[in-house]
Amino acid sequence: MFATNHKAMKTILSFLLLIFTATLSTDIQAQPDKKEWAIALHGGAGFVSKDMPEERKKAYYAALEEALAIGEEILKNGGSALDAVEQTIKYLEDNELFNAGRGSVFTAEGKNELDAAIMDGKALNAGAITGVTTVKNPISLARKVMEESRHVFFAGNGAEKFADETDVERVDTEYFKIQRRYDEWKRANKQTGYNLEKLENNSWKMGTVGCVALDKDGNLIAGTSTGGMTNKKYGRVGDVPIIGSGTYANDMVAVSATGWGERIMLNVSAHTLAAYMKYTNSDLKSSMDYLVDEVLNPKEAGFIAVDKHGNFSMRTNTGSMFRAASNSNGKRVVAIWED
Ligand code: ASP
Repeated sequence: MFATNHKAMKTILSFLLLIFTATLSTDIQAQPDKKEWAIALHGGAGFVSKDMPEERKKAYYAALEEALAIGEEILKNGGSALDAVEQTIKYLEDNELFNAGRGSVFTAEGKNELDAAIMDGKALNAGAITGVTTVKNPISLARKVMEESRHVFFAGNGAEKFADETDVERVDTEYFKIQRRYDEWKRANKQTGYNLEKLENNSWKMGTVGCVALDKDGNLIAGTSTGGMTNKKYGRVGDVPIIGSGTYANDMVAVSATGWGERIMLNVSAHTLAAYMKYTNSDLKSSMDYLVDEVLNPKEAGFIAVDKHGNFSMRTNTGSMFRAASNSNGKRVVAIWED
């Protein structure tokens, strides 16, 4: 009797041990590739000198950290990538260090004209606005366009009318103006506007903001917001609000661009990365390398992207890009220069 019980007990114990070991090894094997969420953001690409005053450098790093923490918190707690992207970009728009929202660059006529876009890759839906002058947080208006209109892209007065209809906050045009941007504009050549020569003599400093994220439900969202380029001509629309150029997401990847808008636009850049990835079955890293090294010319642009596996990639060919990223595996980066 005792011997039979003992044998049965031994069998049960070995069975339990087997299950326990199997569970453990599944977890261990699954862990390295399992990224429940991921986020990447940029605060503009350009030619930022490493001799930047220490105080200023610190301020940029602190802002990037803070912006990243906002998105991370939302995603860690099971929030949506849409909320993470909107809230992260809102913070950057409100921060004067960046060329989006308050602190946007001046147009040739001394105004601030803002562009923004947001795209939901899984739903393949997007919202974009251009040339707004009184919308405090353009990214929130872009989200409203995506969620509450039958359209994708609103311009100028129409966009502002839609802001009133959807209770998006509007402010006086003075709100966007800060002294540093005004001085930059005064220094810029008002006659010729921006040109390649200027890009090369280091006067081209960006601050456009963008964010891409993957959430626990597998949603991929891309968002970008900007004041455009210093001294831009009346009515100029950049790459940012043009879906597929500065902002794009599908069910594989979410991408946000920064840099010389015309060049980004002419190469339909964000969509090019996504299409290359899809049609050549390439991973995120090689798709990003293809875009930055083979499609764009040197000194033109930078990009951030997150794929459906929670990998992120951030690259620029301009020497510097304010950027930060992290994922649920604990990988975390906050950086400005290439090294
Ligand atoms: N791409 C933006 C534009 O051309 C500028 C930037 O990225 O800073 O409007």
